[in-house]
Amino acid sequence: MIVSSAIAAREYQNLIDGAWVDAADGGTFERFSPAHDVVVGRYPSAGVADLDRAVAAARRAFDEGPWPTMPGVERARVLGRVADAIRAEAEDLAYVEALESGKPVSQARDEVLSSADLWEYAATLCRHTYGDTYNTLGPSMFGMVLREPVGVVGMITPWNFPLLIISQKLPFALAVGCTAVVKPAEITPGTTVRLAQLAQDAGLPEGVLNVVTGSGRVIGTPLAAHPDVDMLSFTGSTDVGRRVIEASKGNLKKVELELGGKNPQVVFADADLDAALDAVVYGVYFNMGECCNSGSRLLVERTIADEFVERVVERARSVPVGDPLDPATKVGAIATDEQLGKITELVASGSAEGADLLLGGSRLETDRGRFMAPTVFGGVRPTMRIAREEIFGPVLSVLTFDTRDEAVRIANSTAFGLSAGVWTRDLDTAIGMSRAIRAGTIWVNTFLDGYPELPFGGYKESGIGREFGRFSVDAFTELKTIQMHLGPRTSWWMPRPDSATR
Ligand code: NDP
Repeated sequence: MIVSSAIAAREYQNLIDGAWVDAADGGTFERFSPAHDVVVGRYPSAGVADLDRAVAAARRAFDEGPWPTMPGVERARVLGRVADAIRAEAEDLAYVEALESGKPVSQARDEVLSSADLWEYAATLCRHTYGDTYNTLGPSMFGMVLREPVGVVGMITPWNFPLLIISQKLPFALAVGCTAVVKPAEITPGTTVRLAQLAQDAGLPEGVLNVVTGSGRVIGTPLAAHPDVDMLSFTGSTDVGRRVIEASKGNLKKVELELGGKNPQVVFADADLDAALDAVVYGVYFNMGECCNSGSRLLVERTIADEFVERVVERARSVPVGDPLDPATKVGAIATDEQLGKITELVASGSAEGADLLLGGSRLETDRGRFMAPTVFGGVRPTMRIAREEIFGPVLSVLTFDTRDEAVRIANSTAFGLSAGVWTRDLDTAIGMSRAIRAGTIWVNTFLDGYPELPFGGYKESGIGREFGRFSVDAFTELKTIQMHLGPRTSWWMPRPDSATR
């Protein structure tokens, strides 16, 4: 039973140049809760005029300062205060996130606390961003390599982990002195707008952070194309990632992309099968499977496949699906009708291509909202669409293998390369698989962990570049080489000294 009577709609504005404003043309849009079918947020529907003002503010804040040249210790204090504010507001942020995205509030709470951790970690980078010196270029030459902020960064984020994903980008860009224009997904902007309020309250100077709400087509493409934006950091689907690269070509801006995945969990017969079972079910149904890292393919060694898959089905059958606000819920609502349609279309393709539907496969009958039954397909072959395409829903595709080489071939048989899980007690197998799978993250005897220290990103069509850790510093900075001559200069028309002694 989904109860909606106590849920109230909130009013939001955009943050442009330090002021909270409506859209220039007065346009608005609403977001409803996909679980409760009631409006939960009203937002300005920003257009190109609003976007241009936001970019101009970020440009001025970058070109005129003080943020990019402020001592790192002062930037660190601001970022640290944001982390504290996120923690202080965790319950309310989790509530907004659960209502707009449909995810269980317990998972939203974890997401909020992980976001605070990212801000806290990024604050340390404010004081640990430095270049190099070269004292090896001979007596008359001294070389320095400076790291400088790349400039104005456009950020476009998806709806599945709204607060977490902006927190994978924004604090790291701010840490090195960039300014930003953020466009959150139209269906889940609430926590990003709230975050902007917290950052403003924490002392972020005017214009350093600007948030515009609206559709990707209307303001996302112009943001990617904008000549005054120096870098675009995008997380979303591979298809839209291609489009933003196309749009960004005008001024050849730096582009960093975090895209989709079709991630395998590879279970060998010698593994701790109880632990693997738990992680397989968690890995695919966490966040309703609307997760770039979803373990949507189970590759299981044939000798244990029948029994292991039977246990997976039994466990999946007992996963609690329902109201995201119920603390017991593990699988909440599907974010939109469009997403539900995409999931059911791919499920139908699985049956049509000959896979065995072992569990679920359809929308659940509820009085409100849109919910999908946890679904398991057995007998999947690598060529089937449900083995190759990102479903972004609670659907597990089970494939079997006989040898380690075959497991590697299947694991690498999609266009994606975001992450993978390997379950084994054998060191050779663990390291051999970790080396052979072409993906940005390999989890061995664990799944879906993440640390701000460790880089995150994809191989192949899962993206370009890395987020997190010191690798974020690489992403959001330019290198500047300074070559400094010491002592009298050797005239151009004099005989050149031997290069070894110059
Ligand atoms: P989309 O690619 O549809 O949208 C992502 C963002 O891009 C949204 O803000 C959207 O705006 C915007 N957008 C849409 N069209 C355009 C356009 N033509 N030009 C510029 N911007 C545009 O992804 P989803 O929101 O559906 O998110 C799901 C996808 O994100 C999945 O494929 C998933 O794998 C991927 N993802 C990847 C992660 C990673 O780190 N690798 C993490 C999380 C998700 P709007 O929706 O408001 O129109």
